[in-house]
Amino acid sequence: MANKKRAGVWSFLNSRCPRCGKGKVFSGSMFNLQTFANTLGECPKCKLSYEPETGFFFGAMYWSYALIVGSIIIGSITMSLLGMFDYAVYAIPLFIIFLLPLLFRHSRLLMLYIVYPLMYHDLFYGTKRDKNNLEEESENDEEIEEVK
Ligand SMILES: [Zn+2]
Repeated sequence: MANKKRAGVWSFLNSRCPRCGKGKVFSGSMFNLQTFANTLGECPKCKLSYEPETGFFFGAMYWSYALIVGSIIIGSITMSLLGMFDYAVYAIPLFIIFLLPLLFRHSRLLMLYIVYPLMYHDLFYGTKRDKNNLEEESENDEEIEEVK
């Protein structure tokens, strides 16, 4: 069952599941400030758990930082090329505030698309056992020890 196929760039840009590329990752609309951050627990299509462990998405802060610094650099270069660098101090923060829902979502998606397959390889590709099986096996191990 070692299917190493993964979703591509198009699925990433469309906020789709990193494994099947079909199921949604977020339940709310990106343009609704109250629901843009609502992340589903698992893929509605292939049942991939989006949070393999508690606090998995804390790592998205680092991706968010990288995306914001990248936006500042690209914004500065663009404003400089347009000859409007004097306004960059106002324009770039406004631009970033406007893009925050997008940056927030894509920092989470970067966790799912890059960190998830690397750290939870077996869970992501379904090659070994999933979290529920792990818990069952550990319970079985305790029972075996009790018998001895
Ligand atoms: Zn999926």
